[in-house]
Amino acid sequence: MKKLVILGGGYGGMKILSELLPNNLPEDVTITLVDRVPYHCLKTEYYALAAGTISDKEIRVSFPEHARLEVVFGEVIGIDREEKNVLLKDAQPISYDDLVIGLGCEDKYHGVPGADQYTYSIQSIGKSRETYSVLNNLPPGSVVGIVGAGLSGVELASELSESRDDLQIKLFDRGKHILSAFPDRLSKYVENWFVKHNVEIINNSNITKVEENTLYNHDKSITCDVIVWTAGIQANKVIREMEGEKDSSGRMVLTPQHFLPNDEHVFVLGDCASLPHAPSAQLAEGQAEQIVEVLKKRWNGEELPDSFPPIKLKGVLGSLGKKHGFAMLADRPLTGRVARLLKSGVLWMYKFHNG
Ligand SMILES: Cc1cc2nc3c(=O)[nH]c(=O)nc-3n(C[C@H](O)[C@H](O)[C@H](O)COP(=O)(O)OP(=O)(O)OC[C@H]3O[C@@H](n4cnc5c(N)ncnc54)[C@H](O)[C@@H]3O)c2cc1C
Repeated sequence: MKKLVILGGGYGGMKILSELLPNNLPEDVTITLVDRVPYHCLKTEYYALAAGTISDKEIRVSFPEHARLEVVFGEVIGIDREEKNVLLKDAQPISYDDLVIGLGCEDKYHGVPGADQYTYSIQSIGKSRETYSVLNNLPPGSVVGIVGAGLSGVELASELSESRDDLQIKLFDRGKHILSAFPDRLSKYVENWFVKHNVEIINNSNITKVEENTLYNHDKSITCDVIVWTAGIQANKVIREMEGEKDSSGRMVLTPQHFLPNDEHVFVLGDCASLPHAPSAQLAEGQAEQIVEVLKKRWNGEELPDSFPPIKLKGVLGSLGKKHGFAMLADRPLTGRVARLLKSGVLWMYKFHNG
C-alpha cells in the first residue's frame, strides 16, 4: 500500500480529500489526515466567532469517513524528510510515501515589540475562542483596538460593532483609505459604513509598540482594553522552520507541480505555499485540485504535467455585519445587501457540499 499523509484539514486539505474520496482513491493507496482539531474549521468565519455572532458549532464540519482514511488528532512539530516521517508532539512519528503540508498560517507581527504578547488573534480556532471570550466579557464603554484593516480586520470590526454597539472600536489602518487596494467607490462605501456605526478609523497609522492595554501609534500611546491583531500573516511555523527557499512571508517556494524543488514527494499547500496570488481559501482549493492531478498521474505511472494553467479565482467577498457587504467580482465592485447575500450563499453552499 502507498501512504498519502495530509497535514492540516483546512480548505486545502479538505479539497484533496473531496477530490479523492469516496471513489477516486486507487485501491493501493491509504490516506492519513493529521490535524490538531478533530473537525474541519471554517476559518473564513472566525471574525464572527470572535465577535460573538455565531456559535462554535456553526463553523465546524466533520471530516469525511472512508475505509482507507485514518484521521489522527495531533500537533505536528516537524518533518524528517530523510526518514520520510512526520513528527508529532507526544506521539509516535507517522511515515509517508507522499506528503501534503497544508497547515495554514499564523499572525505576522512585523517585529513590533510586544505585539505577540499583548494582542489577541483570529488566526486559529483556539485563539478566536480566546478573543471571543475577552471581547464578550468587556464592560460597556470599553475600548477595542483592531490593528490592520484588511479583509479580516474590517470584517471583525463591523461584526463586533453590530454585536456590541456599547464598545468603542478603533480600527488602525496603515493606508490613506481603508481597503486601499480596492476601487475608491468600494473603500468609501466601507468607510461610510464604519462612520455610521461609530467605528473610528485611524488612517496612516504605524503601530510601533504594544504594551499591556496600550498601543503606540507613531510612538503615541493609546489605551485599549483589548487589542486584536489582524495586520499580517506568515506561513505556519513548521514550514518556516523547514529547509528550503521561502518568500518574505515564510511561504515555501515550489515547482510548478507544487512539490519541493528537491523532493517530489513533499507538496506544500494553501497559506503555506508561495503562489502568485494573495493567500485565500479559494486559492488553497484550486491548488489542491492541481496537486490531486499530480498524485493521480504519479500513482498511474504517467508523466507529470510540466505546468498548470493559472488558478482561477472568483473574486473577493467581504461582510459588514450581517446585512451589508462588499465584493470584487470579475474585477467589478459590488456593495450592499446583495454582496452580503452572496457571501452567505457561498458559505451555505460550502457547508452543504462538505457537511
Ligand atoms: C477572518 C478571516 C476571513 C477570511 N475570509 C476569507 C474569504 O472570504 N475568502 C477566502 O478565500 N479566504 C478567506 N480567508 C483566508 C482563508 O481562511 C485561508 O486562506 C485558508 O483558510 C487557507 O487554507 P489552508 O488549507 O491553507 O489552511 P487552513 O484552512 O488554515 O487549515 C490549516 C489546518 O491546519 C491545522 N493545523 C495548523 N497547525 C497545525 C499543527 N501544528 N498541527 C496539526 N494541525 C495544524 C489547523 O487546525 C487547520 O485545520 C479569511 C481568513 C480569516 C482569518
